[in-house]
Amino acid sequence: MIPPRALPFRIGSKLKNTDATLLKIYDLLLRHCGPQHWWPGDSPFEVMVGAILTQSAAWQNVEKAIINLKTAGVMSSAALRQIPTPELAQLIHPTGYYNAKAVKLQALVRWLRASCGDNLNTLFAMETDFLRRQLLDVHGIGPETADSILLYAGKKPVFVIDAYTRRIFSRLDLKPDNDTYNDWQIFFTGNLPQNTKLFNEYHALLVRHGKEACRKQPICDNCCIREICKSRS
Ligand code: SF4
Repeated sequence: MIPPRALPFRIGSKLKNTDATLLKIYDLLLRHCGPQHWWPGDSPFEVMVGAILTQSAAWQNVEKAIINLKTAGVMSSAALRQIPTPELAQLIHPTGYYNAKAVKLQALVRWLRASCGDNLNTLFAMETDFLRRQLLDVHGIGPETADSILLYAGKKPVFVIDAYTRRIFSRLDLKPDNDTYNDWQIFFTGNLPQNTKLFNEYHALLVRHGKEACRKQPICDNCCIREICKSRS
C-alpha cells in the first residue's frame, strides 16, 4: 500500500516540516529549470524499452539505440520476441551491456504477452502494488526500472529513487534513517501529495539538478537550493 502522508521520519535536525520542505525544494527547482517534459518516448511501450536501455547508460546513447530499433522495424512487443538475441544486441549496442540488455528486453516482452496479451491498457489497469511485484519478478527489472515504468509508462503515482535523488537529499541532510531503496521511496511518498504529475516532474528535475549542479563535485555557486543546503561550498 502507498503509505500515508507525513510519516514520522527522522530528518535533518533543523528541517522538521518535511512535506513543506520537499515542496519548497520542488518549487525552487521548477522555477529555476522549468518543466522537463519527461519521459521522452512515443508510446508507453517505448518508455518501457527505454527504462531498461537507460540502465547505466547516458540518455543520448539510449536515443541512438531506440532509433536503431525503429529503423529495423522491431519496436514492438511481438517483433522483439522474434528477433534473434544477438541481432537485438547489435541494435542496442550504443547503450553498453548490450548482450545483457537484449536478454532483459526479451524477458520483458515475453512477460508482456503472458501477463496482458501485449495490451498495455490492460496491464496498467492492474492495481499498482500487484503490478510492481510482477515487474520485479521479470529478469533484469529492479526497483528503479520498475518504478520508472509504473510512473512514466503507466502514469501511476510512484516516486522513482535514483542515485541523483540520494546524493542531492543526502547533501541537504534530508533523508530517511536507513539508506535503502524502500526507505527513500517511503520518505518521498509519505511526505508528498500522491500526484503522478508531481512525482513525474520532481524526479525529472532532480535528474537535471544532479547532472548540472549537484554533481559528484558539486557546483554550488548558482545552485537554486543552496539557501537550504548544509553542504554548500
Ligand atoms: S548547494 Fe551544492 S551540494 Fe547543495 S544541493 Fe546545491 S549543488 Fe548540491
